[in-house]
Amino acid sequence: MLAASVYNAFVLVPLYIGMTYKTDIHIHGCVSKILYRNINNHLQRILCDFSDELSRINITVDGFKEEDADPSIIGTGFSCGIDSLSAVYNRYVLETDPEYRINGLFFYSSGVHGNFGDDRAVRLYAKRHASVQQAADKLGLPLYMIDTNIHAFTKGHGWYGPRAQYLGFYSCILALERGIRMYYIPGNFGYGLTMEWSFRVAREIDFAEFAEYYTLPMIHTGNIRLIPEGGQFNRTEKTEQLADWDIAREHLDVCNDVEGLYDTYDICPNCGHCHKCLPTLLALEAVGKLGHFARKFDLGKYKRESRKYKYLLVLNKELDGFLMDSYRFCKAHGMKLPSVFAALLYVLFRKPKTFVRYMMQKVLPEKTFLRIYRRRRYNVK
Ligand SMILES: [Zn+2]
Repeated sequence: MLAASVYNAFVLVPLYIGMTYKTDIHIHGCVSKILYRNINNHLQRILCDFSDELSRINITVDGFKEEDADPSIIGTGFSCGIDSLSAVYNRYVLETDPEYRINGLFFYSSGVHGNFGDDRAVRLYAKRHASVQQAADKLGLPLYMIDTNIHAFTKGHGWYGPRAQYLGFYSCILALERGIRMYYIPGNFGYGLTMEWSFRVAREIDFAEFAEYYTLPMIHTGNIRLIPEGGQFNRTEKTEQLADWDIAREHLDVCNDVEGLYDTYDICPNCGHCHKCLPTLLALEAVGKLGHFARKFDLGKYKRESRKYKYLLVLNKELDGFLMDSYRFCKAHGMKLPSVFAALLYVLFRKPKTFVRYMMQKVLPEKTFLRIYRRRRYNVK
């Protein structure tokens, strides 16, 4: 699948680095003309709007060329998280049009299972792959493993992380343009929540949440298109949709507590108390389907942690799209949540920083508050 004669996969990350350090770049190879035009005409401006640390630069290339290929795969990443399962459910199980129906799945090692060179990360990758392979077999779809070493080069670089990592991820897919013609990339939030929340809070923090829906359609070549998927749902709605699907019930893997999973994955693949597990379980609790996933999560831990999580949900919902989504979903399904007063009493002694942060948010102008919040929480200027 690897492109052999074009450098389309080697433009986006150098672009971000060049824009960060205000340095022009030259690509010593040929790239797709449409990709080059879209980067110059649109992507640079979107990136400048995303972060004050980025500046427009000049990019030059050796020439323009399209890879000579006839790709046929309609793919998506398949980690068995909520977003990827939702993409497969809607664009494979429910999809009837063969021109748009998924016919191949991809599973990556690119840093999400732990640090490069850490044997524990390699073992976790292998275990997760075994589960994902079983799910792909049940679906009757081929699973392609993409074992990258991108995380060998990015560790310790302050500019990497949610601000730039997606450009590296898109580049991995562009590298496969001899095989892939269409690739669905699931988003975190529905369109409404993206407009309401992402433009206001995700700026300077998370590029995908800020701009993915309108950036992806521009990252294409003569062979491959990246297509946003999932904007028709919020994450809680996806969770509800998947709650009765046997593939999800047997293979759901959302956990982000990688260090903890090194010891516990064989017993239970989801910790039940990290920032990915908690909103998933809360949505399942709201629709009365926690029991469907008793073998996939440590529900004992969830029950111990969920009370605290509900207090924080009430106070932090304006600062995190996951929490806003969860809060509204729980309310809409009649779940009783603590009052703001009860939540403030709870954090006053146990989490005084949250108390101070909430009071600042109420008192300061929003722009001032967000600038201070980003600097303290994300180390952003
Ligand atoms: Zn977890």
